Amino acid sequence: MTQVVIGAGMVGCATALALIKRGYDVVIYEKRPDPRVEENKDVGRSINLAISARGLRSLRAIDPEICDVVISHTVPMKGRMIHAPGDGHMTPILYGVYGTESINSISRSKLNNLMIDAAERAGAKIVFSHQIPSDLEGVSALGETIFGCDGAFSKIRGLIERHTDYKIEQETVSTYYMEVPIPNSEAIKDWPLNYLHIWPRGSHMFIALPNDDGSFTGTLFAPNTLFESDLANPELLAKWFTTEFPDAAKVIGTEGLTMLGKNAPRGKLTSIKFSPYNLGSKIVLLGDASHSMVPFYGQGLNAGLEDVRTLFEQFIDTSIKDEWALAFNAYSKFRKPDLDAINDLSMANYLEMCSSVTKTSFKMRKYFDNM
Ligand code: FAD
Repeated sequence: MTQVVIGAGMVGCATALALIKRGYDVVIYEKRPDPRVEENKDVGRSINLAISARGLRSLRAIDPEICDVVISHTVPMKGRMIHAPGDGHMTPILYGVYGTESINSISRSKLNNLMIDAAERAGAKIVFSHQIPSDLEGVSALGETIFGCDGAFSKIRGLIERHTDYKIEQETVSTYYMEVPIPNSEAIKDWPLNYLHIWPRGSHMFIALPNDDGSFTGTLFAPNTLFESDLANPELLAKWFTTEFPDAAKVIGTEGLTMLGKNAPRGKLTSIKFSPYNLGSKIVLLGDASHSMVPFYGQGLNAGLEDVRTLFEQFIDTSIKDEWALAFNAYSKFRKPDLDAINDLSMANYLEMCSSVTKTSFKMRKYFDNM
């Protein structure tokens, strides 16, 4: 019987690849239209992602070919580049002692499209623009096991909630984010490409991750109260951004900033800890559907890819033939402490990125200035 994946995000496609590798037929149901078609492009939601060793190790175990393709589209970031207030003076903080370790930047839409291509090439049938039934009976009829990979606001998680005892801890933080595209231009030639650029300013911050065409994708994080008051006005947003991040504002330009204020959607950030991750052998949750975390540790997707590797390598492959209920129960118990820990670290790293990092960078600046 066919295995069913709900959601053609990165984790859903990785799950489909893992299932196909083990000889199963797979259908993926996705509620959005095909994002590879130009007119369906998700404008304003293409925040760059940092893929770390955790994600790449998992992707390689799931499908070495797609891992190599993904790596070929990433830009390694060997550290943070801190931009000081005022003159925008840049101070690097390397991620590793020797400068050889890095995390890797890639556009979310590019990565998702690559994963969809790979799942389709491997033989997954993908049904786009599809509304799944909202009751367990209807969803169960879709196939043998339902792999719920439908993101933070998972409908499949809702089915587990309705049919078993569950625990949920959910927190929506008072910070919104907004994508800020920064096209390649003469003006950004001074920004070293191989860094995650950060403008930490206490209650708010701006970050910019490099793309393989020399452009950057920025993200502004600020209190929701600010986004709903001053920053709701495009002219005020441009003025405020110029005061807070003058060097970044210079490369984006006043017109670019004003356009941004008019067009760019704002996103909310949610943290969700949930258990159990399964309903017998009928449903199992992977990725954001089971653990949504704030993005400040850059590990949400990495952890989601690790879910897929862990579930298949340590539980499904080693289970007695087709004893998936036992495998899913064991996975759910085993995985929970690690996911809760990374969720907590993500929340704690917000403070680090917004403000503590400045203390380190000012110490580093003194060090570099004295060299
Ligand atoms: P999603 O990417 O949300 O995909 C879910 C899919 O399911 C979507 O295609 C959706 O349309 C579909 N879907 C939803 N409901 C249904 C339904 N009812 N029926 C069918 N389909 C449905 N993570 C990192 O590892 N590194 C980073 O640097 C990083 N940066 C981030 C920055 C920001 C601003 C944010 C918000 C997140 C960041 N993350 C990062 C987290 C990362 O984006 C998520 O962890 C990742 O997208 C989760 O993948 P997923 O496939 O589980 O869910």
